[in-house]
Amino acid sequence: MPRILVIEDEPDIQTLLRFNLQREGHVVTVAGTGNDGLHELRRGHYDLVLLDLMLPDRDGLEVCRVMRADAGLAGIPIIMLTAKGEESDIVLGLGLGADDYVTKPFRVKELMARIKVRLGRVDDSEALGPKKRLQIQNLVIDPVRHRVTVSEEVAPLTLTEFKLLHFLASHPGIAYGRYDLLDRIGDGEAAVTDRTVDVHVRNLRSKIKPYDRFIETVRGVGYRFSEVEA
Ligand code: CA
Repeated sequence: MPRILVIEDEPDIQTLLRFNLQREGHVVTVAGTGNDGLHELRRGHYDLVLLDLMLPDRDGLEVCRVMRADAGLAGIPIIMLTAKGEESDIVLGLGLGADDYVTKPFRVKELMARIKVRLGRVDDSEALGPKKRLQIQNLVIDPVRHRVTVSEEVAPLTLTEFKLLHFLASHPGIAYGRYDLLDRIGDGEAAVTDRTVDVHVRNLRSKIKPYDRFIETVRGVGYRFSEVEA
């Protein structure tokens, strides 16, 4: 059963989320502050985090930043819970490595659908091709362990960044459009903009230096992985 950590301080929303997530068969833990949330994450194993942005102590963006900088937590999908008027926080949050967001007041059905997409991603890498380890110079992409290393150092990629890299690197020389990439990496159901892809690509590039040069921007199309000698 998937284990979900809800980091949210409003009691009504805590109750609503706990009830609905449990009904879907998830194991739910609720933390009311950012610090409690991080503490909980380091104590247990979680498959997904629902993260409120406005918390009484650290804000959600900081929690996101801390998670993504921690190799043990970097791969856990994060869905942000944001209030209306927090558009700049949404862009910032995606930039920090959150995978998706819903705006309060959200529809429970929509949130559950998004959670399903994010949880499904852990197991659907088969859809992206065989689980073959890819090595391009000192960049190693291991789809079984969902791990990327650059010169043997683990790159702390989010699952979305991992899928993006794995997909592009599996099809070198082919340019893909932004919406096409969203489909391939399992973002097809989320109401995202093509800008989301740019944010993911920017983050990905910053984490795989010097091999960021392999991900080429193709003007008017999207992105392509270079055809390079292995
Ligand atoms: Ca709040």
